[in-house]
Amino acid sequence: MSVFYFNGKTAVSQEAQARIETDSLSISVNGVPRAEWPLADIRSQSKAGAKDALLLSSIRDDAARLHVTDSALVAAVRRACPNLHARPALANPLRYVGWLAAASVAVAVSATVLLPYLSRSLAGIMSAEAERRIADLPYDKWIANISARQEAPMRFCSTPKGDAALDKVFVRVFGNFELPFELDVKVTDNRSTNAVAFPAGRILVYQGLFDATETPAQFAAIMAHEVGHVYAKHMTAIALRNAASTGIGDLLLATFPGGQVVADFTSNLQASSFGRQSEREADAFAHEILTEAGISPINLAEAFTLMQSMTLEQSGILTYLHTHPAHDGRIEAALAASESKEFSDDPILTEDEWAALTSICAE
Ligand SMILES: [Zn+2]
Repeated sequence: MSVFYFNGKTAVSQEAQARIETDSLSISVNGVPRAEWPLADIRSQSKAGAKDALLLSSIRDDAARLHVTDSALVAAVRRACPNLHARPALANPLRYVGWLAAASVAVAVSATVLLPYLSRSLAGIMSAEAERRIADLPYDKWIANISARQEAPMRFCSTPKGDAALDKVFVRVFGNFELPFELDVKVTDNRSTNAVAFPAGRILVYQGLFDATETPAQFAAIMAHEVGHVYAKHMTAIALRNAASTGIGDLLLATFPGGQVVADFTSNLQASSFGRQSEREADAFAHEILTEAGISPINLAEAFTLMQSMTLEQSGILTYLHTHPAHDGRIEAALAASESKEFSDDPILTEDEWAALTSICAE
């Protein structure tokens, strides 16, 4: 019971006999010869430090193994096999380079094609409950990043009248629509023109957005667009994709230097915007929800036109247009969605309420 042979083709180990001949190790099972390994070809597969046993293989038959626990045979093999601890040389270095190239192409394809597709599908089937469980991560990370950039903790603005006005906008826009998540809208005192939609119903409105919108209806239109991103789980897909591509980044780093460049590139790409398809989806949602609420989608077009016409001095950094580029006929689509439809004359907010909302960070 001291020598076992695995032929490498089946998972069965067989009790075997092994004998060192002049220049080979002959292996037999039940007296039947099974293998003849030249001594120079034999390699140890044992972990360093294993003393009383050897797991052997032959470079010409790299699936088969011989497990030797007979101490006399272990010692004899150690003496007789000159290359027992030699590391396998690369048979063909060019083939290795080819493999690396193929691997990096595969990783690039995974990062740019498969991952986005898979994360979108996965986000799509995610339950609201599962989404809530991953929701804190991107939100907290975002707030930490902004706090670091503005060199002060992010401050959330709240006044009784401002909060009431904000609520009133959302009740008007979404009051007749059953969202599969609870909305949690916060205004921060950051002066950038921006609004960001996070998984599970969190919306972050930057104070600077109020400098770039002229009416409650324009603000409502942008909120409808943002909730469209939540509804379509765009940030959820990005969070899943980042989590997965971090794994790919590690793999690349372990595989070859330069991998970090690819990994950084993909995560920067993800951070810069939701992408055209996502923007179109969020717009389509906004057109529908606004029309339902009796608000013309033309307000979305107006808000975009207004932001585009603002100069850098007027608006600080127009972050919103960086993350929501007005490309691919978005303005035209909003105009088309408002054609030949009736809209309510009910103001969304009174002048006082709009003033309370836009100055919510003033105190
Ligand atoms: Zn958007």
